[in-house]
Amino acid sequence: MIQNGKVVDLAYSLTNTAGEVLDRADARDPFTYLHGSGQIVPGLESALEGLKAGDKKKVSVEPAEGYGEMNPELKLTVSRSQFPKEANLEVGMQFETQTPDGHGVVFTVEALEADKVKIDGNHPLAGQVLHFDVEVLKVREATEEELDHGHAHGGDGHHH
Ligand code: ZN
Repeated sequence: MIQNGKVVDLAYSLTNTAGEVLDRADARDPFTYLHGSGQIVPGLESALEGLKAGDKKKVSVEPAEGYGEMNPELKLTVSRSQFPKEANLEVGMQFETQTPDGHGVVFTVEALEADKVKIDGNHPLAGQVLHFDVEVLKVREATEEELDHGHAHGGDGHHH
């Protein structure tokens, strides 16, 4: 049964409200995570609690329990001169910057103008209701190493 400290293999699809598939994993290449570690959005994690292998569930996650509300203060227009000269800026490019308190924020380049760059520090899925269609493939105990690291090992998704 899915609870804190279990490693879970999922097949799932994630669609937005318009019905576009944003992400998916199937049984041949499942998504593996450590339950209770915050590896997945909170609304999905709590909805999976108590499920077991073979269970299927459809879950709609509101932005507050997903990737957060859209924060207009994270939509900024900055000068091109703030980027290194060699930076080959393109729309859709992402870069990480540190706030003064050491927090990492990922910004996406939204638009390029003559000498200005519009950037957005919201998660690309902020403000969106997330529709998950999930099948639980496998549930197992986490190893001590996984608990120690706070994430699942195995599969090919994990690199240190
Ligand atoms: Zn690890």
